[in-house]
Amino acid sequence: MVDYNDVSCPLDPALPCSTAGYPAYVIEAIDEKDVQAGVNFAREHDTRLVIKGTGHDYPGRSSGPGSLSIWTHNIRGIKINKDDQYAVEYGGIASVKIAAGMRWGEVYTEAAKHNLTVVGGAEPNVGVGGWTLNGGHSPVSSTFGMGADQVLSLDIVTADGQILTINETSYPDLFWALRGGGGSTFAIMVSMTVKAYPQLSMIMHSYALVTSANSDIFWSLASYFHTQVPRISEAGGAGYHYALPGALFDPSLTDSYLLAGFWMFSNKTEEHVNKTMLPFYAEVAGAEWAVDPVYPQANNTFVPDVMTYWANNPSEEGGSSGRLGSWLVDRPGLSNFTKLKEQLKKAAPTPPWILISHVVAGPGVRDAVEDIPGGSNAVLPAWRKAYTHIVTARAWPTGNTALKTYLTTELRESAMPALKELAPDSGAYINECDPSNPTWKHDFFGENYERLLQVKHKYDPHGVFWCKPCVGWDEWEIKDGPADEDPLNWGIGQGSGRLCRKE
Ligand SMILES: Cc1cc2nc3c(=O)[nH]c(=O)nc-3n(C[C@H](O)[C@H](O)[C@H](O)COP(=O)(O)OP(=O)(O)OC[C@H]3O[C@@H](n4cnc5c(N)ncnc54)[C@H](O)[C@@H]3O)c2cc1C
Repeated sequence: MVDYNDVSCPLDPALPCSTAGYPAYVIEAIDEKDVQAGVNFAREHDTRLVIKGTGHDYPGRSSGPGSLSIWTHNIRGIKINKDDQYAVEYGGIASVKIAAGMRWGEVYTEAAKHNLTVVGGAEPNVGVGGWTLNGGHSPVSSTFGMGADQVLSLDIVTADGQILTINETSYPDLFWALRGGGGSTFAIMVSMTVKAYPQLSMIMHSYALVTSANSDIFWSLASYFHTQVPRISEAGGAGYHYALPGALFDPSLTDSYLLAGFWMFSNKTEEHVNKTMLPFYAEVAGAEWAVDPVYPQANNTFVPDVMTYWANNPSEEGGSSGRLGSWLVDRPGLSNFTKLKEQLKKAAPTPPWILISHVVAGPGVRDAVEDIPGGSNAVLPAWRKAYTHIVTARAWPTGNTALKTYLTTELRESAMPALKELAPDSGAYINECDPSNPTWKHDFFGENYERLLQVKHKYDPHGVFWCKPCVGWDEWEIKDGPADEDPLNWGIGQGSGRLCRKE
């Protein structure tokens, strides 16, 4: 998305292009020695340092104007260990050592060859670094837990230039922080060893429910859907669900709103899927709120191997301008039909609005704590109670700063508070957050924040690593940018001035 670094040179050739938003120098690292040399240079010369794997980061944390960038893409390698007893001790059947430059699609292809399943992102081009270190939700998280829960050990380069292997007994505090407390904050990960599980099949239950546009029944439907999420999740369902104006999905659906998506049931029979899903459609057909027509379509598809399926998931296109907001919602937040209806509607006022309900937590994320090396990690605790991570997105034509200001303000000041009302004590997934969230410490890190800040001060006292909105970013500020610089033309944390520690 072009909210951040790319804004100085958008893809549209009609718009002005400059390199001002980009790093001044990039190290194309191929191993830990290159990473070490970059970290040492940045520390010794007080240079702003950024770390980039794929650059998929929505909050723009993998870029920085005028910085030195360490690009990890060419640190390559995947090594399967089928005799890893340590992985077995923590609930896996094998382990996989993955280098920092790998993308999930590459890992899935290799795992499939060995009849294994690993926990990674839904988008095959997302990188293992930023995804895992910030928590990472997966199509199989509802079964096995978050990405950060899978990590058995990490090979890292620290802010003082040491190359270390860390795990639950070696540097346990740093190991705890790196698993969910954020990338580009505590150290650079060069490779990681994660648990692997047996090959997994799934039944994919796809559906689309079409109503008339902006009808009361649509919001009743969206609300009813969410009340059913805990029940379906406990029955083994995970999935991605979209509420949106129909035309965004199919241009012919101009007078319609749509609730559509798919549930994934791992290692379950079709009979179980039908028993779980049919009561949902019966209620939609017969509910007292069902006064307008709802046209349902649903079908089941058997997927023999989830790794092969997700390795071939089509990639999303880059280049659009937009911002996301996330809120994790727990069982109480999904229990009140009337409140859900009101709050969801408030969170989606501005066409072309979209609400995405990522049902990727539930039992697997709650129960994963029993198998985390060291007993715990820094994943936002709200994930353990959540069933769904609701995202609402705003998009604008690149370069239209007036619309950007309007939409990002509406997102921060109206839509996100509406979603938060559902589960006020919960939090947000940092990788898909609104980075301008004023209550970021609580919402992105929860009760872990103070402990994470202590680890940051211990292992990076000079602030070699900095990004926004990351642990400790508010101890620094961007100074001395051009007087006429409009910060909204840059992204969050991307102003072109000097990055200075606050006095
Ligand atoms: C199209 C798309 C689909 C997505 N799908 C999912 C999904 O299914 N599930 C999900 O949970 N998230 C998803 N995300 C969000 C994704 O998790 C984040 O964008 C994540 O930051 C990507 O990590 P990366 O390393 O690829 O990106 P980068 O932009 O390269 O890095 C992201 C952050 O991590 C840091 N970082 C990267 N590598 C390292 C490293 N080796 N050591 C230390 N710090 C590092 C960077 O400095 C930056 O702060 C998606 C994003 C996009 C754009």
